[in-house]
Amino acid sequence: MGDTARPQDNPRRQVPSVDALLQQMPEEAARWGHRALTEAVRTVLAQLRRQLGSGQEQPTDRDSLRSLVRLHLQTREAATLKPVINLTGTVLHTNLGRASLPDAALAALARVAGMPTNLEFDLERGQRGERESHVVDLICELTGAEAATVVNNNAAAVLLVLNTLARQRQVPVSRGELVEIGGSFRIPEVMQRSACQLVEVGATNRTHLQDYRQAINADTALLLKVHTSNYRIEGFTQAVSEEQLAALAREHDLPFVIDLGSGNLLDFAALGLPGEPTAMQAIAAGADVITFSGDKLLGGPQAGLIAGRRDLLEQINRNPLKRALRLDKLNLAALAEVLKLYRHPERLLLELPTLRQLTRPLADIQSQARRLQPALSKALGSDFEVSVQDCASQIGSGALPVATLPSAALHVLAHSGAEAGIRGLAQKFRGFSWPVIGRLHKGALWLDLRCLEDEATFLEQIGTL
Ligand SMILES: *Cc1c(COP(=O)(O)O)cnc(C)c1O
Repeated sequence: MGDTARPQDNPRRQVPSVDALLQQMPEEAARWGHRALTEAVRTVLAQLRRQLGSGQEQPTDRDSLRSLVRLHLQTREAATLKPVINLTGTVLHTNLGRASLPDAALAALARVAGMPTNLEFDLERGQRGERESHVVDLICELTGAEAATVVNNNAAAVLLVLNTLARQRQVPVSRGELVEIGGSFRIPEVMQRSACQLVEVGATNRTHLQDYRQAINADTALLLKVHTSNYRIEGFTQAVSEEQLAALAREHDLPFVIDLGSGNLLDFAALGLPGEPTAMQAIAAGADVITFSGDKLLGGPQAGLIAGRRDLLEQINRNPLKRALRLDKLNLAALAEVLKLYRHPERLLLELPTLRQLTRPLADIQSQARRLQPALSKALGSDFEVSVQDCASQIGSGALPVATLPSAALHVLAHSGAEAGIRGLAQKFRGFSWPVIGRLHKGALWLDLRCLEDEATFLEQIGTL
C-alpha cells in the first residue's frame, strides 16, 4: 500500500504522455480507429495517475500500459447482451429474456432485418398497407376472435385497451385481481396512467357477482378481469367466472375485457401440463376483448396481442397512443412464424423451444444429469461434490405460479461446506463466454437441466475450469 517515504510525484512522472503512448500503438490505431484509441489511452492514463496519486503501486512500463489500453478497447467493444445457458429451473425467466424463438422465427428475422420489406405496403394494390395485417388473420384464427391487433407487450396492450375504452370513466376490478407483475406493472397504476378510474370491488379472497353489479353506474366504462398470473389465493375463496361477468356486462351493454397475462393458445392439460385458460376459451366465454403476452406461454417474441370484437378493435386502432406502442417489424416477423407453428400442434412441441422444454420427459432430463455428473465432478476436482438430485422446475413469467414440473439437477456442494466457495463457483460459471446461470439454494449450486439443449457447449466450457 501507500509508501509514505517516497515523494508522491515520483511514480507519476514515469507515466508517459498520451501522445507518446499513442505513437507506440500503430496496430491498435489501425484496428480500433484513432479516435477510440486516443480516448482509451486518455482514460487508462488518467486512471493510472489517480491510482499513483492515492499511493497505490501500479506498473508504468509501456507493455503493461499497452495491454491495459487493449483491454479497455476490447471491453468497450464486447456485446453486453449475449446468450446464456439457463439452468435456473425457470423456463420463462424474465431476467433471461423469457421465450427463446424457434428456427422458423430466426430465419424470418434474418430475412427482414437487413432489407426493405412490405411492412406497411400492400403489394397487390401498390399502396400503403397495414402493419398488423401480417398477423391479424392468424390471431383471429387461433383465438376465434373476429378482429385483432398487436402492440409492444401485454402491458402496452392493457394500457391501450383501457385508455381507449375507459378514459375518464370507471372500471370495477376485483380486489383479488389488483396484481403487480415484476415490480413495474401494477394494475392500479396502469389504470391510473390509462386515465381511467379504478373501482375496487369485493374482498381480497372473495368477490361475488353482486359486488360487480352494485359497482355499475352511468359512469362505468367496462368490466375487467385480470388473470392473477403470478400468485394464487387459496382457501376460502370466490371469484366470478368469465361467463357470469360476460352476462352481467351484456345486461348493462358494457364491454367485458380480460387481461389474460400469459394467454396460451393450446390446451395445456392435454399436454400433461397444469391447466391454464386458453385465449380461445376466453373468447368463447364471452370476452369482448382479451389481451395477452407474446413471450410468455405463447413462446414468441415480446409482444402484446389484443383480440376481440371488431367495433372495439377499430376504436383501439384509432387511439393515437397506438403509434407509440406499436410492434416493430422484427418482432412482427417473428410473431407471424410462431403463430403459424400453432397450426401444426404436432410440430409445435418439437420446434417451439418453450413447449419443447416444458414438455421434456423427466426420464430424459434424469439421464442427461447422470451423463453429465462424472464430467462436472472431474472438472471441479476434489473441492466440490457433484450429485444428481430431483428438483422442481418452474414455468416462470408469472405463468402457472403454483404448479411446478418434476426435473433433475446437478447439485454442487463445496466439501468445506463454505458458502463462499459455491458463490465463487457460480460466479465462474457466469463468467464463461457463454455464461451458465444456475440457482443458489441452501448453500448449494443447482443446475436444473430441463433447458440444457446445447450439451456440447456446456461440456466444453466446464472443461476450462
Ligand atoms: C405478464 C403480465 C402482464 C404484462 O405483460 P408483458 O408482456 O410482460 O408486458 C400484464 N398482465 C398480466 C396479468 C400478466 O401476467
